[in-house]
Amino acid sequence: MLQKRIDDRPSISRENIREAGGIFLQHLRRVGLKQTEQRNAILRTFLETREHLSTEELHQLVRKTDPRIGFTTVYRTLKLLAGCGLASEVAFHDGITRYEHQYNRRSHHHMVCTECGASVEFFSEKVGEIEHEIGRKHHYVTTRHTFQIYGVCEPCRKKTNGRRIV
Ligand SMILES: [Zn+2]
Ligand SMILES: [Zn+2]
Repeated sequence: MLQKRIDDRPSISRENIREAGGIFLQHLRRVGLKQTEQRNAILRTFLETREHLSTEELHQLVRKTDPRIGFTTVYRTLKLLAGCGLASEVAFHDGITRYEHQYNRRSHHHMVCTECGASVEFFSEKVGEIEHEIGRKHHYVTTRHTFQIYGVCEPCRKKTNGRRIV
């Protein structure tokens, strides 16, 4: 099941990729690692995707550009990208960790169908406002939050007509 995303822009520009590459390079230096051709190829492929990808799925895509890139390299690179804010982990109902790139994206949340695993993204400023409001109340400077809605999508409700779903 592909997990669709909503993007404000239909595709990512070359300039965006260059900028994101700069952020990644700074992070690699900070943690004492080198920029490599493979790591850059993974970043590029990742930024060009439109889905929420598991490490396995990204590995399949990356191999089309460079078949020498191994699963472990993809796995580690995703962790590095998450470490500098270019990627974030999303966990849906199936226990598989997926990633989406956060470069140049508005803050958004997911709603997940617990029957089939389909997900939709939605934007809500109210959630961000609640974060800040609660932060202020408890004298925190908040940096992020997680918020996810679970439910049953329309096609699944139709399929299970007669069977009660809570
Ligand atoms: Zn998303
Ligand atoms: Zn469903």
